[in-house]
Parts: sequence; C-alpha cells; structure tokens
Amino acid sequence: MNKIKLIYEGKAKKVYETDDPTLAIFEYKDSLTAFNAQKKDTMQGKGRLTNLISATFLKLLQDKGIPTHFVKLLDDNHQLVKRLKIIPLEVVVRNTSTGSLCKRLGVEEGLDLVPPLVEFYLKNDELGDPLVTEDHIRAFCFASKPQVEKMKELSLKVNDILSKYLYERGIKLVDFKLEFGTDEEGNIYVADEISPDTCRFWDLSSKERLDKDRFRKDLGNVLEAYEEIWHRISQPKAAIQKRYEAKLFIYLKEGVLDTQGKTVLSSLHSLNYPEVQDVRVGKYLKITLNSPSHQEAEFKVKKMCEDLLVNDLIEEYAFELEEI
Ligand code: 5GP
Repeated sequence: MNKIKLIYEGKAKKVYETDDPTLAIFEYKDSLTAFNAQKKDTMQGKGRLTNLISATFLKLLQDKGIPTHFVKLLDDNHQLVKRLKIIPLEVVVRNTSTGSLCKRLGVEEGLDLVPPLVEFYLKNDELGDPLVTEDHIRAFCFASKPQVEKMKELSLKVNDILSKYLYERGIKLVDFKLEFGTDEEGNIYVADEISPDTCRFWDLSSKERLDKDRFRKDLGNVLEAYEEIWHRISQPKAAIQKRYEAKLFIYLKEGVLDTQGKTVLSSLHSLNYPEVQDVRVGKYLKITLNSPSHQEAEFKVKKMCEDLLVNDLIEEYAFELEEI
C-alpha cells in the first residue's frame, strides 16, 4: 500500500490517500502541541510511540468487537486505516476529575467519577473546541440523535475495555478523548488515535503522570513517560497485581557518628532512661506498591532501599513488608 497524495496535515499526524479509495495511511509525526497549538515542540521518536500505542489500543478494541478505523500497522510511524467522514465532535470520557473539568467547574482534582462522565466538544480549533450539549448537537446538526447515542455507548464500552486492560498493567485511565467517523453506509467507527497524546494515564500507585500532561505542565521526561506506557502495554499481561505496604527505615550505621542520635540519647538519659545504649535517627518511609507476589515486592523494595541510600558505607536500611 503506497501513499499517493497528502490529504490532510494535522498537529500530530499526516493523512495520505492510497491506491484504494476506501483506505488511508496515517503518518504519526514527532511533533507535540498543547493549548490549541500555542505550545509546540518536537521529540524524536514520539511519532513511533504514539503510532505503536494507538495501534495496540485500536487492535484490542477491534478484537473486543468495537468497530474502529484501524486496518493494520505498516511500520514504526505508519498505520493503514479506513477512510471515513469524521463527525465534527470530540467525545471525552472521564473517570477522575482533572484538566478542563476542574478548571471549568472549580471542583477538586482526583475525585472518582462513578459513573464516568461523557462530554461532547465541537471540533473547531478557532473556537478552542467548546463544550457542547446534546441540544446544541441536535439544533445545529453536528450529529444525528442515533449517532450521539451510538458514540456514547461505544465510548463507555471503550472506557470499560481500556480501563481494565490498563489497570492490569498498573495504569489508571483517568480520561480520554475519542473521535468517530462514518463509512459510505453510515456505519460508525472509532477513528483517529488513542495514545498518551489523547488520554490521561496515571501510575496506579505513585499517581505519576504518564501522558501529555508532562508536556502541558513542563513536568519533563515526556518521551520517557510515553516509553513507559509502550513498555507496559507491549509486555504480556502481568499476573494479577496485589498491593503491598513497605515500611522502610534508613539510618546511619553503628559506629558512624550520628549527632542527632547522640542528642536524643543524652535527652533520654537526662529523662531517666539510663538503660538506653544507642540511638540512631533516620528516615522512615511508608511505600505502597503493586506487585504480583511477595517475593517480587521484596526484591523491588530492597532495590529501592539501595537506590535511596546516600552512601552505603555509612547508611543502612531495614524494612517490613506486608500485603494490604
Ligand atoms: P481536558 O478537557 O481535561 O483538557 O481533556 C480531557 C481528555 O481529553 C484528556 O485526556 C485530553 O488529552 C483529551 N483531549 C481533549 N481535547 C483534546 C484535543 O483537542 N486533542 C487531544 N490530543 N486530546 C484532547
């Protein structure tokens, strides 16, 4: 399948006509944009990651019976898709409050939204993609009533499938945006992309942002976060994750002068505890983590302790680990 002619160039993708009029080629670019393209950057390798991640999600959805435009992956930066007429609406599903929802309504970030919220936005860059109600959609014929119902139904199904799939990989699907298109017969398909550019992914335990918010908010390590998502979804599903709590203690080794410890020791002596022989003051950390087994959690925590030690000649650690 060859690219014949560029049909459209967007912020993150180019779309080409092919020799089959029913198919198009998506080329994922290395550019990143936010706030309606007011903030721009290029990151080498980003197009490959969004292409591979999007292909994985679209294929997963297709396998679960959701119609999508995805046909096949062509190479690192290209995928073959059905040519569709795009419905001029973006559908956003939210499981947790954040982003424009918090800004618009002044609500706290991180609230669980059960059942999830489904919102429609008009695809219009000049207007900054405004939120629209179903009455607006009907009044201005942005989509028909059955199309709106179908988009809602499909979006919630997509949310169920992706949330479960990601949860098993230690990722919380916070929210995402979908686009839809229709073929000649009027059948509706999930179109466009599903990637860290269009979704919010939080690490289940640390709540670390693994999506475009790293770029929007200048959090750094944007590409590393996208890599992490690709790494987690391209590996076989981890065994069912269990939750563990580790209590870590890091303190100066016996024999190393601990001035804070000495101060506490002399206070204890003056408070009439002559039996106290030594006091070591250290750091105490309580860490919650996901792991498929106690053994693996223990290994991870041990490694964390070693990484946290400032200097293993003078510091040592101990930890307690239990499943919670
Ligand atoms: P918010 O409305 O909070 O800015 O975004 C909600 C979700 O939809 C986020 O996951 C965000 O990435 C996605 N989203 C909303 N509008 C757009 C858009 O115009 N482009 C992209 N790439 N994602 C969007």
